[in-house]
Amino acid sequence: MDMGIAGKRALVCASSRGLGLGCAEALAAEGVDLVMNARGREALEASAQAIRDAHGVDVVTVACDVTTAEGQAAVLKAAGRADILVNNAGGPPPGMWTDWERDDFIRALDANMLTPIMLIKGLVPAMMERGWGRVVNITSQAVRSPIPVLGLSNSARTGLTGYVAGTSRQVAASGVTINNLLPGIHATDRADSLDGAVAKSEGITLEEARARREATIPARRYGTRAEFGAACAFLCSQHAGFIVGQNVLLDGGGVNLTM
Ligand code: NAD
Repeated sequence: MDMGIAGKRALVCASSRGLGLGCAEALAAEGVDLVMNARGREALEASAQAIRDAHGVDVVTVACDVTTAEGQAAVLKAAGRADILVNNAGGPPPGMWTDWERDDFIRALDANMLTPIMLIKGLVPAMMERGWGRVVNITSQAVRSPIPVLGLSNSARTGLTGYVAGTSRQVAASGVTINNLLPGIHATDRADSLDGAVAKSEGITLEEARARREATIPARRYGTRAEFGAACAFLCSQHAGFIVGQNVLLDGGGVNLTM
């Protein structure tokens, strides 16, 4: 299916690896020019060059922490009048509800709620003027079913979800859609590090830890960044203009829900 977005320009945050990279690759495969961002310059440049080589699109890189005010200013400057915004950043650390103080919540809210909101505020007005735009926020399955040890993430991402629910309905008449993609377990560096921690604490191999977690997913495997990116590209496509304010769960059936 032709997504009809060749020649558009996208800012994809936190995209040197993992799910953000999957989104950047899938958009580039549709002929979308990119602004890619990550904290580490080396991995970012390598991923950007691989995308240029594979898809022949224009890729600008901005190495910065997107959760800071300076980082947001830098990516917004490079994005210019972008047509597509994919919001992403690393998630907050795990812990117990008794561990977290006000400053921990402020950091989590800054990273996983206020950063996407600031970038939406920065780019959506020009999209509305042009009568077309797409915003996809990478959130988590935890907004449908909480992961208790990720209380900071549960809180910040649910806050973003509430903001998107209202705001998406305020901008839809201008041809701009805002939706959230909710990853379940995907085979990224983050999944490896979570499995590595379980393997260490339980004295089992990484493969055993992974096999145990795969057994909890009806699809009996982890998702891939390519599958995740394909869903993102569809939400950014011409075909998805009537999908507004939705939370699309990509989890192999892992969250046990009827609706
Ligand atoms: P990952 O660790 O594989 O990749 C993260 C990417 O984001 C890297 O490119 C890194 O450089 C970049 N990054 C991280 N923090 C950044 C920052 N502050 N500024 C700029 N770039 C930054 O992670 P992933 O698995 O792709 O996860 C992406 C998001 O999805 C995270 O918020 C994660 O919590 C969430 N998530 C992932 C899964 C999963 O199974 N992978 C499941 C649920 C939610």
